[in-house]
Amino acid sequence: MSLQAFRLGEKLAERQLQQRLRQCKTHDSAQGTWLERDGRRYRNFSSNDYLGLAAHPQVTAALVAAASHYGVGSGAAHLVCGHTREHQALEEELAAFTGREAAILFSTGYMANLGTIQALAGRGDAVFEDRLNHASLLDGGLASEARFQRYRHNDERHLRSLLAASAASAKLVVTDSVFSMDGDLAPLAGLSGLCRDHDAALMVDDAHGFGVLGPRGEGTPAHFGCPTDDIPVYMATLGKAVGTFGAFVAGSRELVDFLTNFARPYIYTTAMPPALAAATRQSLRLVQAESWRREHLQALIRRFRTAANDQGWVLMPSETAIQPLLLGEEMKALALSRALEERGFWVTAIRPPTVPVGQSRLRITLTAGHSEADVDALLDALADLRERQT
Ligand SMILES: *Cc1c(COP(=O)(O)O)cnc(C)c1O
Repeated sequence: MSLQAFRLGEKLAERQLQQRLRQCKTHDSAQGTWLERDGRRYRNFSSNDYLGLAAHPQVTAALVAAASHYGVGSGAAHLVCGHTREHQALEEELAAFTGREAAILFSTGYMANLGTIQALAGRGDAVFEDRLNHASLLDGGLASEARFQRYRHNDERHLRSLLAASAASAKLVVTDSVFSMDGDLAPLAGLSGLCRDHDAALMVDDAHGFGVLGPRGEGTPAHFGCPTDDIPVYMATLGKAVGTFGAFVAGSRELVDFLTNFARPYIYTTAMPPALAAATRQSLRLVQAESWRREHLQALIRRFRTAANDQGWVLMPSETAIQPLLLGEEMKALALSRALEERGFWVTAIRPPTVPVGQSRLRITLTAGHSEADVDALLDALADLRERQT
């Protein structure tokens, strides 16, 4: 039987017509400040490698050394025979670093979110999520058997009214800490206060805060000085600031034992390669020891915001490495992204359905790998394009 009934061609043509058809751009470089594609070099302002660790020689060396002992594949799920000493040590180190009793590794952040929300919240329970949460959190809420409700972005009053009206036996509030397309922070103290008042539990996805925020990179809760008890479910990814791959959930011993037994995307998937766990352990040491990476990044963020504001661009209110430049119309964002590409910059335009209609933007990300000269080069190109625009 063919796939004809599924109308793939028709759906693709529709996307094409909307100029929303997406394709991967292949490049040939290690992740870093420069990417090479088809023989041309581009300054990279699209990466989530916020601390510049994805291709760090010590991290690569740790991967190679562990691979020469363990080989490549883990061979099985964690609960079967895929869980090595490296995985175990990484879990213990992540728990210690985040100030929690225990942590559990997932093969990706998407799976961590799907698995955790689905395992925690079942029939008769309720899940409340910020409308701008990452797709994996929203999918987790949709896929769970709990009642799923979204509240307006960072709107504590809206959340309060939803919580007050809920008769669910257990309530889970879920938020990004740093919103991935906006770069702004969730009011964690306010949200945890609401949870306390309404007998709800708070889950925080710190994909864009872990490693970057907090005095030693412990994450957004440390940045705000939130007690760990206020956030019983802490999730973060390892593929962004940590520069490797995978994700974890940290919390009480009981939570981790529970997820080990009930989170299906943990149980029914192959464990991450042990060498990757070893590389991640090495990267975590650099995250903690090299605070200059966070300081340099913060200085670049200030430099970029001041100059881009002076040029008259509309920056979204973000103090993080995610610096979206709001353009509104899709075609404007696309045109600016292409004009920057011609000038040797790789900056992704973010358009619907990833963001709401009328809020298309360039998602500029800064990393500790950038120099002041890199940021100034981008600013020069933006200034030039701004003049042509107006
Ligand atoms: C990237 C991201 C994820 C998914 O993590 P992966 O490890 O890439 O699957 C989850 N949540 C947020 C907020 C993210 O930005």
